[in-house]
Amino acid sequence: MDQFRSAARKLEICEDKGLHGAERKMRIQTHFLVRDLYHSLGQLSARLEPKISSFPTLRDLLAELTQIHDEFGGYGFDPKEKSLAVMTESIELDGIYLGPFEIRLFLSEIHKLDSRYTYRIIALESNPSAANELVTHPHVNDERLCEGDASVSIRTALQSGRICDFFLMVRSVLEVYNPDSPFVRLDEWEGRPCHECGCIASDDNCYFCEACEHDYCGDCSSYCRGCETSLCCSCLSSCPYCDEFHCETCLGICLECGECGCASCLEEGLCPTCISERENQDEEETKEQVEQAEETAPTNVG
Ligand SMILES: [Zn+2]
Ligand SMILES: [Zn+2]
Ligand SMILES: [Zn+2]
Ligand SMILES: [Zn+2]
Ligand SMILES: [Zn+2]
Repeated sequence: MDQFRSAARKLEICEDKGLHGAERKMRIQTHFLVRDLYHSLGQLSARLEPKISSFPTLRDLLAELTQIHDEFGGYGFDPKEKSLAVMTESIELDGIYLGPFEIRLFLSEIHKLDSRYTYRIIALESNPSAANELVTHPHVNDERLCEGDASVSIRTALQSGRICDFFLMVRSVLEVYNPDSPFVRLDEWEGRPCHECGCIASDDNCYFCEACEHDYCGDCSSYCRGCETSLCCSCLSSCPYCDEFHCETCLGICLECGECGCASCLEEGLCPTCISERENQDEEETKEQVEQAEETAPTNVG
């Protein structure tokens, strides 16, 4: 709960101060917190279900294996880790190819309620999200499935030895995209993460900084007003006289005071401050010369 309170407070601060980059980052973090909570609640609710005590007979199990074979066209059994695995067809959701997945069930762990130990979802031709390479499917994070509404029925199927039903239910969860509860949304699946704020920038909103050689989103990058090179905000400096962004090579140094300035603000190597100082000095000198000339000149009195 402390994590939630702290996240809510940080989000509020970001919103108030208009820190859009940080706000987006916080939103992603909070989203993961909510997902974990949702997952834990599902497991807690499964724990409240009455336990099924009758254990399937060998004949039942054989029937299960035949059914699995019919539904999935085969299965793999690893006697060493006592796991039973089936493969899904290639899965494509909203035009994004995610490839086939293996559903691997650890038979000796079936009694455990925490799905982390019971089974794993392994991407066979992984096309992970740009934001997180452990997210290989909008509902799979680190080989763990977010079961959503199917949580209780999946658990019940396992506890009553309906292994084929278990595989079928898991496969249906994998075949449908639920936009309300993904680890990473499909519309943010592709693109590149911004090096500054971490948001996923789509190709038309992604800029490469030629100085530090990283990708940035539109909010975190700009361009040099002198040579028009695209650079991130950290690699640009603003000229103190015109306040415009410039790259390092387009900023010169005033020969007099050493202050930086852009090409249009520096005149003959001098910054505007030093130019006006020099002009004042020149004026002063001319005034003195005029005064001296007036003093030494003979005065004509009528
Ligand atoms: Zn950014
Ligand atoms: Zn940069
Ligand atoms: Zn430049
Ligand atoms: Zn100067
Ligand atoms: Zn300038």
